[in-house]
Amino acid sequence: MTPLPKDAPRVLFPQELMAQRPEGPLYGYFHPETRTANVLSCGAPPNRPKTFAPAQLLGWLGPRPEGSTCAQTGEGGEEQAQDSPGPNLEGRWSEDGLQFKLDHRPCRIEFYSLTQDVFSRNTGILEVARMLDKRVLVMACGSVGSLLALEFARAGVGNFLLVDPDTLEYHNLCRHQCSVTDVGRFKVDALKDRILDINPAASVQTQKIVIQRLPKEVFDDFLRPGTLVLASGDNREADLYANRISCLYKVPFLSIGLWERAFAGEIFYSLPGETACYKCLYDNMGFNGGRVSENRRIYTTKEHLEDVRFEPGISTDLSLVSLIGAKVAYDLLDGTRRVLDHLTQYTLWCNSLDPEVGGEMVEIFTYPFQVTRSIEVAKNDDCPHCKIVGAALE
Ligand SMILES: [Zn+2]
Repeated sequence: MTPLPKDAPRVLFPQELMAQRPEGPLYGYFHPETRTANVLSCGAPPNRPKTFAPAQLLGWLGPRPEGSTCAQTGEGGEEQAQDSPGPNLEGRWSEDGLQFKLDHRPCRIEFYSLTQDVFSRNTGILEVARMLDKRVLVMACGSVGSLLALEFARAGVGNFLLVDPDTLEYHNLCRHQCSVTDVGRFKVDALKDRILDINPAASVQTQKIVIQRLPKEVFDDFLRPGTLVLASGDNREADLYANRISCLYKVPFLSIGLWERAFAGEIFYSLPGETACYKCLYDNMGFNGGRVSENRRIYTTKEHLEDVRFEPGISTDLSLVSLIGAKVAYDLLDGTRRVLDHLTQYTLWCNSLDPEVGGEMVEIFTYPFQVTRSIEVAKNDDCPHCKIVGAALE
C-alpha cells in the first residue's frame, strides 16, 4: 500500500462505533481549510444543542442507496445542497477495518474516544475514571457558577445538578461563560449545552427555581456521599440554605464570591461533621450586621444593579478567585489534599490594595494576589446547621 501524501484529507472517527460497524449517512463537521472531517455519528444526526451549528451531512458509510443524494438524506441536507455541494465523504468497511475517500482522495483516519481522549491530558493529575462518577450541585449559574461548571466538565466530572431561576441577559455577557446566542435562555439550559459540548457523556439535570424552593426529593435523588455543593450565588441567604443542605446530607460545601468592588475574593469550604460550617462562619464573623456585612458580595443581579454605584469586578477578577476555588473543589471531590493542607477553611484573595476601592479593609493584605492562610473559623457550639449534620440520611 502506498503511503498517503502529507496533505491527504483527514477523518476523525469515533472509536465507540468500531464494534457496531454501522452503515448509513455520516454526520459531523467538515473544515475545508484543513480538509478535516470530524465524524460525530452514523445513521442519524447527533444530538446537538439547538443554539449551536447543526451537524452537516458529510457523506455515506457503506454502499449508498440508489439515487440518494445529500439533499435527500437527513436533516440539514437541503440547505447544504442549495448553498454548496458539501463534502463528499465515502467510507466502507473492509477486512482491515475502515477506509475513507473524500472527493475520491484516500483519507487518513484518526480514531478518537469521547471517554478516553477528551480527558487524556488530565491523566496523572486527576483520576479520570473516578471523576466521571463525581457529582456537583451548582447553586447559581452566574459568572462564578458557569466558570466552575465548565472547569468541572473539563476535569471530567460526570454528574451535574444546575440550579438557577434566571435567564441570561446582555449585561451578563461580559462575565458569563455563555454568549450572545444564549441571551434570553435560562442560564441552566445554556450552561447545560456548554457542559455537554465538552463532555457529551455527562449527566446534567437542571432546576429553574431558587434552591430554597427545590423539593426534598431532588436532593434525595442527586446527593450521594462526596457530592460537592457549590454555592456561587450573589447573596449569603442562598449560600446559607445551600450550607444547610450540605449539613443535612453530610456532603462537602464550597462557597466562592467577590467582595464589593471586587477588591477581594473569598473562598470557604466545609466538611460537615468535621469542620465549622458556613453558618458558623456567618455568625462568628458577624456577617449578619457589623462591619464585614458591608462587604456583601455584589456581582450582577438585575435587582441590585441600580443600587450599585460602582462596577463590580471584571471577568478577570471573578475568574481568578473562581479558579482558586476550583483547586479547592478538586481536593474536596477526590479526597486529596493538594491545596487544603496549605490553606485554612476561609481564604481571602487580594485583588486591590487601593483604599479607595477596598476601604480600610485593604490593610489585611500586603500585596496584590496575596492569599490569606491564617483566618481560622471556630466551630460554633450552638450552630443550628452543625446540629443537623447527616439528619437527612437517617
Ligand atoms: Zn456550623
